[in-house]
Amino acid sequence: MSTIAENIAKVGERIRAAAHASGRDLDHIGLLAVSKTKPAAAVREAYAAGIRDFGENYLQEALEKQAELSELPLIWHFIGPIQSNKTKPIAEHFAWVHSVDRLKIAQRLSEQRPTGLPPLNICLQVNVSAEASKSGCAPAELAALAQAVSQLPNLRLRGLMAIPEPTDDVAAQRAAFARLRELRNGLPLPLDTLSMGMSHDLDAAIAEGATWVRIGTALFGARDYPSA
Ligand SMILES: *Cc1c(COP(=O)(O)O)cnc(C)c1O
Repeated sequence: MSTIAENIAKVGERIRAAAHASGRDLDHIGLLAVSKTKPAAAVREAYAAGIRDFGENYLQEALEKQAELSELPLIWHFIGPIQSNKTKPIAEHFAWVHSVDRLKIAQRLSEQRPTGLPPLNICLQVNVSAEASKSGCAPAELAALAQAVSQLPNLRLRGLMAIPEPTDDVAAQRAAFARLRELRNGLPLPLDTLSMGMSHDLDAAIAEGATWVRIGTALFGARDYPSA
């Protein structure tokens, strides 16, 4: 077994244990493999071990990898910060975008989504730990943003995403994820998705209702250059 396949098995075991502990159905928890900074060969190995969904943060890197892997039926998720002049290739080359935090970006993605492709699945990124993060809309702005995004024709608003401030305190991890779940539950929209939990806190995220955990390091090893 390759190291990546072994890592996938270990992460799968963590996901199963966390789901079991909180009485959740495994079918409602997706493993999104975050392949940023990792070569196409690593994606191929993960694919061979059963992974289909891959997350990327850097557009140029993602497009190059997608071209190299075009023969595989992969589902690509954009999870990084979005500049408004980069929305067109994102609208064209991804199935999901987890990091929408303002209406202008959503409007451009909707306008630029090619006809013939299904609607682009969208999560709104929310800043649940205000002091730490620059990305994400403020909780107070979420309801208006969600309402507006839900009206855009070529998008399908699925739910919320957060990257809480990293901490080893499991109670603090759970509080931040619970906050995201409560924000989602407070919206008058049928949202089925909570994108939350990374290598160090996926267990807490699953306990609080994560439907996508976004896992890089625990699958592919440490990255050579820092994440955005
Ligand atoms: C890099 C990244 C991840 C994966 O983080 P790990 O700690 O390596 O699992 C998840 N989500 C986002 C948005 C990221 O940028």
